[in-house]
Amino acid sequence: MAKTLDIVPVNDWGFFTLPRPMVIAGPCSAETRDQVLTTARGLRRFGINVFRAGIWKPRTHPGSFEGVGTEGLKWLREVKEETGMKVCTEVASEKHVYECIKYGIDMVWLGARTTANPFLVQEIAEALKDTDIPVLVKNPVNPDLDLWIGALERLNRCGIRKLGVIHRGFSTTENILYRNAPGWQIAIELRTRYPQLPFFADPSHMGGDRKYLMEISQKAMDLGLEGLMVESHCDPSCALSDAKQQLVPEDLEQLLLDIQVRDADTDDRVYKEGIDQLRAQIDIIDDNLLYTFGSRMNVSRKMGEYKRDHNIAILQTSRWDSIMAKMLSKGAGYGLSETFLTTVFNAIHEESVRIQNDIIENKS
Ligand code: PEP
Ligand code: MN
Repeated sequence: MAKTLDIVPVNDWGFFTLPRPMVIAGPCSAETRDQVLTTARGLRRFGINVFRAGIWKPRTHPGSFEGVGTEGLKWLREVKEETGMKVCTEVASEKHVYECIKYGIDMVWLGARTTANPFLVQEIAEALKDTDIPVLVKNPVNPDLDLWIGALERLNRCGIRKLGVIHRGFSTTENILYRNAPGWQIAIELRTRYPQLPFFADPSHMGGDRKYLMEISQKAMDLGLEGLMVESHCDPSCALSDAKQQLVPEDLEQLLLDIQVRDADTDDRVYKEGIDQLRAQIDIIDDNLLYTFGSRMNVSRKMGEYKRDHNIAILQTSRWDSIMAKMLSKGAGYGLSETFLTTVFNAIHEESVRIQNDIIENKS
């Protein structure tokens, strides 16, 4: 059973205005005072309230641009004073946290490489202990939901209750269109476990190219996520990091006009009646599925006893292969995908083998 997190609702942070999406935008890296202020003014013009800029950059190779450091915090403070925007940056050590506190940074996030390191997360959580600074936690680079949750728990245990997450996808060795594999099912699982946790998508790092920003942002909205963190630069072609995935403020404005945000819920009576009927049908079908699974496993149990009494091995792979082939072709006739059928029937088979094993080993 998942432990609960004690979270302050995002509407009470005083950072974002409704309706969705809540947007955090700004350059990958703060590069110069002029670049930071020009970008912030461009974003402020169409109502962006929360500005991001990386000050310390975790780069794959040494010698790449590693951020301007503390100097950039002064520029963020200027953005805050001039535009009234909230400002945020990535922290990866307690030293970064202390610097942020000194310069009045309003919110911080943990990068994907930091979330994957419990020592660093603990150190950062302790440094943030007596502050009221909200913390957004990016998913770890590897698709490990527990590691992501562990980071949230560490922060929460140190009293950080203004807590949220950013989904930026996962490193992969597979050849995919995007820079990072979306792994939406992991985000959905986290959302289901902690529905109160404010959830942002980062289409910039997931896509790795501005041409994918629209489709990923739309997907995030379709999944009902609260917000987006998007990289925006006043002159992306000259950006010192992540040039390909940043877009000028005007293009972000257009993207936000183009995405369709469907209501997470509605008071419409006709819609509610329709959806209630469909949900009632689903509930009945799910009950039937449970009954069917139960019956299926009862037969497996009998088979286990029968095999045990006749001294026969449990696993006859050739039989399972032929059952699976039959299921795939039959299932296609019901409009069921091969991936779905393989997942479901492999799970059923594994459980059946486990039950029979227990019988042979006299456990039941
Ligand atoms: C960033 O937001 O600029 C960044 C480095 O992101 P990530 O941690 O997702 O790679
Ligand atoms: Mn970046």
